[in-house]
Amino acid sequence: MSSEMIIQIIKEVQKAYEANASEIEKLDQAIGDGDHVINMRRGMKAILEIEEELGSLKPADALNKIGMTLLASIGGAAGPLFASMFMGMAKVPGSDDIHNSKTIAKMFSSGVELVKQRGKADVGDKTMMDVLIPVSNLFSELVETDNLSKNEMLGQLMAEAERGMLSTKDIAATKGRASYLGERAKGHIDPGAKSCQLIIFTICNYLINRGESK
Ligand code: ADP
Ligand code: MG
Repeated sequence: MSSEMIIQIIKEVQKAYEANASEIEKLDQAIGDGDHVINMRRGMKAILEIEEELGSLKPADALNKIGMTLLASIGGAAGPLFASMFMGMAKVPGSDDIHNSKTIAKMFSSGVELVKQRGKADVGDKTMMDVLIPVSNLFSELVETDNLSKNEMLGQLMAEAERGMLSTKDIAATKGRASYLGERAKGHIDPGAKSCQLIIFTICNYLINRGESK
């Protein structure tokens, strides 16, 4: 993975995000304060504004820089949480020179771990963690499995992200703004979980279509 590829992926995510923005906005209007899409847009814009600088950095430095940029540009709960994801990924030794899925799985899990430390939410709290934790666990498991093509692995990760996102629908929230609603949050998918599912879906599709995934 090179820094150019990280930028390419963020551009793909931005496109996919715009295609789904109104749906996600409705989710945060239902159980949050309606600013989640604004926050996500602001973060992606801030990253792409420093595209040139990022391209000149080694991947681990670029990931750290992205984390710091998100911290400075997005407010609310999501800013520090998404920033932690990037900073956590950058911490893994070897993240500058990635040639195998095992390193990427380690980076993903290190990112998720830092988000978890920062937000103190776990599976079942109706947050983005309901997508991130199961996907990270499955990813770590699948990279150790023989006889699984990369496309099959990516397909399973997309399915797990979808499952995690849907699992937030019928539960009450115990973390974040939606927790103020108590039982009234039931029946709505968590917006952060939807964002993470969409991001994972977009990255997996990008890797499948790029044909790197044999
Ligand atoms: P805010 O809640 O400050 O308005 P956003 O609307 O941008 O920020 O993001 C809301 C999303 O953040 C929620 O849908 C949820 O997925 C996620 N979230 C909130 N609190 C936490 C937490 N403690 N840990 C993990 N994710 C959280
Ligand atoms: Mg909000």
